[in-house]
Amino acid sequence: MLRIGCHLSSSKGFLHMGKEAVKIGANTFQFFTRNPRGSKAKEIDEKDVEAFLVFSREHGIGQILAHAPYTLNPCSKEEKTREFALMTMEDDLKRMEYIPGNCYNFHPGSHVGQGAKEGIRMISETLNQILKEEQTTTVLLETMAGKGTEVGRSFEELQAILDRVELKSHMGVCLDTCHVYDGEYDIVNHLDEVLEQFDKIIGLDKLKAIHMNDSKNPFGSHKDRHEKIGEGSLGVDAFERIINHPLLRGIPIYLETPNELEGYAKEIALLRQLER
Ligand code: FE
Ligand code: FE
Ligand code: ZN
Repeated sequence: MLRIGCHLSSSKGFLHMGKEAVKIGANTFQFFTRNPRGSKAKEIDEKDVEAFLVFSREHGIGQILAHAPYTLNPCSKEEKTREFALMTMEDDLKRMEYIPGNCYNFHPGSHVGQGAKEGIRMISETLNQILKEEQTTTVLLETMAGKGTEVGRSFEELQAILDRVELKSHMGVCLDTCHVYDGEYDIVNHLDEVLEQFDKIIGLDKLKAIHMNDSKNPFGSHKDRHEKIGEGSLGVDAFERIINHPLLRGIPIYLETPNELEGYAKEIALLRQLER
């Protein structure tokens, strides 16, 4: 059975998200650790977390995915901005230990003209400062569309970051279908070849999550605008091949399509129906 869910609002706490997930036929979900624009996080409500952990066990919810605010930039030109990214991620990782054994995804950053090499150096340096041996959370680099000076469009850049991280077992990658297609990896017509490349450069054992989104833009557009499943340039057949690919079996899937709960429920039902 697919491990699939969608992005949910975390404003009402963990138990609420768990219940919403079950209501729409999901058995996992993604949430922002704080306001996506990166403000102060709400205090962890230990009672809520406890109730959530019991509820997830009872309802088979597994491997949930936290998403860092997308405004963080660990490879900014400004030291203040880099410091803010570091402190936010460090705080998020501390809070993640209340829900141990899950994943934390972030956008590697934009090098803003300093060059990818310098960006990669700064991102891995940040990771080396915030990762702790005893943490149970796996930190994921998200594959990016290559908008502007984004680092992490290519598998080589992602691997260059991973290479420089000391606590390698704490790291993984989240593949965003919209981003990679916008970023010139043709998962519609050449899924096998793209997965082969991923395996050769990064290793498929590092692939811990899939963001499943169609794209509003054509192949290689470097735009990053998500579309509903089957209504964009990837098309429903591509998603059928992805969810049934033997190398992708069991990897949790998170929808980030432009939907309300009802739309997500429909997409989850559709994808479950396409599972062979
Ligand atoms: Fe993202
Ligand atoms: Fe994504
Ligand atoms: Zn995106």
